[in-house]
Amino acid sequence: MKKDGNIPYKTYLEENEIPNKWYNVRADMPVKPAPLVNPGTGKPLTMEEMEPIFCKELIKQELDNDTAYIDIPQEVQDFYKMYRPSPLIRAYFLEEALGTPAKIYYKYEGSNTSGSHKLNSAIAQVYYAKKQGLKGVTTETGAGQWGTALSMACAYFDMDCKVYMVKVSYEQKPHRREVMRTYGASVVPSPSMETEVGRKINAEFPGTTGSLGCAISEAVEVALASKGDYRYELGSVLNQVVLHQSIIGLEAKAACDKLGVKPDMIIGCAGGGSNLGGLIAPFAGEKLRGEADYDIVAVEPASCPSLTRGVFAYDFCDTGKICPLAKMYTLGSGFIPSANHAGGLRFHGMSPIVSQLYHDGYMRAVSVEQTEVFEAAETFAKTEGILPAPESSHAIRAAIDEALRCKETGEEKTILFGLTGTGYFDMVAYGKYNDGEMTDEIPTDEELQASFATLPQIPDAK
Ligand SMILES: *Cc1c(COP(=O)(O)O)cnc(C)c1O
Repeated sequence: MKKDGNIPYKTYLEENEIPNKWYNVRADMPVKPAPLVNPGTGKPLTMEEMEPIFCKELIKQELDNDTAYIDIPQEVQDFYKMYRPSPLIRAYFLEEALGTPAKIYYKYEGSNTSGSHKLNSAIAQVYYAKKQGLKGVTTETGAGQWGTALSMACAYFDMDCKVYMVKVSYEQKPHRREVMRTYGASVVPSPSMETEVGRKINAEFPGTTGSLGCAISEAVEVALASKGDYRYELGSVLNQVVLHQSIIGLEAKAACDKLGVKPDMIIGCAGGGSNLGGLIAPFAGEKLRGEADYDIVAVEPASCPSLTRGVFAYDFCDTGKICPLAKMYTLGSGFIPSANHAGGLRFHGMSPIVSQLYHDGYMRAVSVEQTEVFEAAETFAKTEGILPAPESSHAIRAAIDEALRCKETGEEKTILFGLTGTGYFDMVAYGKYNDGEMTDEIPTDEELQASFATLPQIPDAK
């Protein structure tokens, strides 16, 4: 293994160096993300209107565009110690295999049982629900990582957890389902016959295998019907989730500072935008304040390209259209990526914070096709040893592409990317790749135009 000065393969912060505050990047944004809007009135949602759906403290965080640092409650800090700090790893083995002069680092969030970064927000959200005296929480899960994380958090705080799992995943990923049930969650395939919206979608589309947007509608309906005992929790997209995920970026930045390393480029995969928003937060903060410059890159699947081909507009977050509207880069709430698309990153929209930063030119976005993503995953697994999640492998692809570019130019760029999780529950997709049966499905302009035509007409509610 080649060695670069004093830079070790793995860098861990000390336990007492784990940040005790989250960083709220909105405080430094000159243009704040647009507020959530009530589809009924077309006006920004008030605290009172949000209270039947979300926990009080989380609504405060959702609406707070000004406080730069928010204390992490002691109980959440304690839980973080079970699996944090997460390591910052220098990808020496990958660099060597690529023969690149680039220096590649990754922040690895897959070392907890849920296998992804989602636990960082799940534990915070359940903590606030518990503190408010609720019985439990409802949610949706697609690929299963968020449902698993929320189940773990609910087990820790002894709360009920009701998960609506997209039917196709429920059937194809029985092991994910059983992990959730082991942690005490009840898991229902969506669309179900338990909710009004589920029955309606089942009647309209008999035999449907479900979608994330539909599962969200069911989970929200159940929380609303509980008359106050339950609230709904979402694992991405929202401002509060990006806030909690800032722990990734704060730790990564602290480790970089310790090593005397300044990344030139920061790369994250983008589904709803939470890991990316969290990883880049403190770096974007420096960029927004004019203190430093970074090339920040979001990587999305070509089959669900919300930033690179979507429109910046108010849209529904769910198929049943019962959720608030968010202003974001979106493909339209009716857009469903091809069933051939393996990994997560299937959401039609993007975090309003990430959308605004992108719109204002603080970051850029690229899209990649899934066979080249799995090629990158295979290279990474063989060289660095970790079997990456397909989602994370989008970031690996972009990092490898940049490292290969550096090989041509001789640039010694420093690249940092987020490795969000492990791929052990994605072996069906890996199997397709190994059998040479994986295909790339890219929506046509006509398909996207048809989907944009269904966007709600909401003037900017500022
Ligand atoms: C959920 C998930 C993502 C995508 O979600 P974001 O909100 O965009 O971060 C990426 N990687 C893994 C492993 C996930 O579980």
